[in-house]
Amino acid sequence: MKQPLVVLGATGSIGRQTLDVASRLGIDVQGMAARRGSDDLVALAGDWPGARIVAAAPTGEERDRLSGLLGDRVEFGSEALVALASRPGVTVVNGVVGAAGLRASIAALEAGNRLALANKESLVAGGPVVLRALQRGGGSLLPVDSEHSALFQCLVGESTAAVRRLVLTASGGPFRGYSINDLEKVTPAQALAHPTWNMGRRITVDSATLFNKGLEVIEAHYLFDMPYDRIEVVVHPQSIVHSLVEFVDGSLKAHVGEPDMRVPIQYAITYPDRAPGALGAFDFSGLSLTFDPADRRSFPALDLAYEAGRIGRSAPAVLNAADEVAVHAFLDGRLGFLGIPEVVERTLEEVPVVDLVTVDDVVEVDREARAVAHSLLGGSC
Ligand code: MG
Repeated sequence: MKQPLVVLGATGSIGRQTLDVASRLGIDVQGMAARRGSDDLVALAGDWPGARIVAAAPTGEERDRLSGLLGDRVEFGSEALVALASRPGVTVVNGVVGAAGLRASIAALEAGNRLALANKESLVAGGPVVLRALQRGGGSLLPVDSEHSALFQCLVGESTAAVRRLVLTASGGPFRGYSINDLEKVTPAQALAHPTWNMGRRITVDSATLFNKGLEVIEAHYLFDMPYDRIEVVVHPQSIVHSLVEFVDGSLKAHVGEPDMRVPIQYAITYPDRAPGALGAFDFSGLSLTFDPADRRSFPALDLAYEAGRIGRSAPAVLNAADEVAVHAFLDGRLGFLGIPEVVERTLEEVPVVDLVTVDDVVEVDREARAVAHSLLGGSC
């Protein structure tokens, strides 16, 4: 019997695919949360009549409507989100973006729950705080990101000391092979057309700049306690090899399969067991796989992430916040594509590095970095 689930970010891409896995495997869903009280959330509440529902930041109108429809099944606010994540004996799948996601991650771990983590910011921005909560609460942390699930699966039964390096694969995004000149003119619409993965808007732009891969390097550092000089990135446009581990004896293990997020989501739920999945037998016919080094000149975001990761402490939180502000400015047409890493680099230079002990520390650094990034954008408009 699998543990019941709590799905945070239920109306998003990860949330929907998690519910798909749960319904296929017959796993009980005890609760689900979304930011807004949208029609989508109302529909999910109908599909899962046993689940408690949380809308973390609804409008007044949404609140009234949900209360009318769902009565005492529904709760509101970020405290209710945290309470849902702290329910005893559940697996919490966290696909919530931003600081609300971080608080929920900490709450789940402190309650001793299994946390299936798809919320990248939790680890990138709050790595030291999350790891302390993991130690204190005795919960477990399982990656949902495809690359990290791949690494995790390659590492099952292995010791960290036997690892020579972790190799994360990157699709290279829609602008693979572009020169800096080409990148100067690219539009939000072009950046949002990702070749292999279907994801949210920020992460899709982050894939185009390679920031996403940089954030994943930092995530891997915290998840697997691996120094940055033993984490590498290789461009693999087919997205069939999801990542690799090289061991000290020269052996390599790779995780291979169709790019489908339901696979890593399901593994995070069923680990250490496996259950029949949504995908059929893998088709090898006509398959050819290529691997190339990342172009660090056209995509400076990758080195910026390594730099922030090596500085550690609050620097990755600054990187994450500045990038989010810059990506929104790009999507709004207020910043060019090459301006994204520039804004991040300058924000990293300006915001002092501090220790992160509590979630409030992370929230404060995040706020400061956003303010600096906004002021840099104001100055350049
Ligand atoms: Mg990924």
